[in-house]
Amino acid sequence: MTLISASGRVWTMNLCEGEAEEQNLSGSFMLRIGLAMLQGARYEHAEALRGAAKELGISLEIVDLRRSDQVSRLDGVVLPGGESTAMKLASSSEMLYEALWSEIEQTDLPVLATCAGAILLCENNLLSASIDRNSYGRQIDSFQAPLQVDMEISVLDSLEATEHSRDEYGHKPLMVWHEAEPESEDFPGVFIRAPRFISFECKAVVFLKDETVGVLEKNRLALTFHPELTRDHRFHRWLLQRAGERR
Ligand code: GLN
Repeated sequence: MTLISASGRVWTMNLCEGEAEEQNLSGSFMLRIGLAMLQGARYEHAEALRGAAKELGISLEIVDLRRSDQVSRLDGVVLPGGESTAMKLASSSEMLYEALWSEIEQTDLPVLATCAGAILLCENNLLSASIDRNSYGRQIDSFQAPLQVDMEISVLDSLEATEHSRDEYGHKPLMVWHEAEPESEDFPGVFIRAPRFISFECKAVVFLKDETVGVLEKNRLALTFHPELTRDHRFHRWLLQRAGERR
């Protein structure tokens, strides 16, 4: 499979043989992606980023973000889902978010924001959207549903089986939805005490029937669901490709 990005960079994937390679017109490089580690589904995002990097055949460094002095020289950033109130509290001592918001604003850093991450983007005026927290109800009202995606991200027709391993702390990423193997046109949406976009002036890109559950503005992709809990890495590939185009 060959992907050609807007900047003309060519990504070649040869996943059938279990190998992926990239032909990068400007030479090889390693992407530095920051992952906000204050609270929430962080390890699952790390695993999804590693999977997406493998699928694109690129080298990746994941920077665990906890402090304000870590946000420079990033190629992209992931804001995980979890509990936005807890995230804000956890950020207050080391001022991570304040530094991140100004970095995103000033450099147009590519962002993948999921669920609580999308709430934080909206609250900090980094997205022309307003959002309603816990809009589908309580935890017990969480649900899964197929979503329609209107973005230029290729769908992989074969996937390597991935076995998630434990990290140094014994944490094993949680997978909620295993059924998307190989990737299908519909995206497997996992909604956990999810917010809802009430109004927005950015581009609607992911849909749950008639409802918009993903929006894109500049380099910022905000999703109200949890793509990192599935084996479909297309949104993580989008982030890596956007990040790579800016090199
Ligand atoms: N309900 C959470 C909040 O308001 C978001 C839920 C999630 O990220 N899964 O912060």
